[in-house]
Amino acid sequence: MKCVICKSSDIQNKMIEEEIKSGKDIILVPLNVLVCMNCGERYYDGDTMRRIEDVRSRLKQNDLEVEEVGKVLRAV
Ligand SMILES: [Zn+2]
Repeated sequence: MKCVICKSSDIQNKMIEEEIKSGKDIILVPLNVLVCMNCGERYYDGDTMRRIEDVRSRLKQNDLEVEEVGKVLRAV
């Protein structure tokens, strides 16, 4: 497989954290995806897309188990 963006064939399976925004909160979703090592483009397969959709819909229903890992801060 080649990267559609930069044509590099250096694509590897990586654990990443997808960021999903919910109001002012950001939910990190650990995912195993293919990442282009050259330009950083991420390739999501069907299972991964379903996982993200699942998290999104659980978020809406307040049915997602989460833990606080940090704070979002803003300079004043
Ligand atoms: Zn690339």
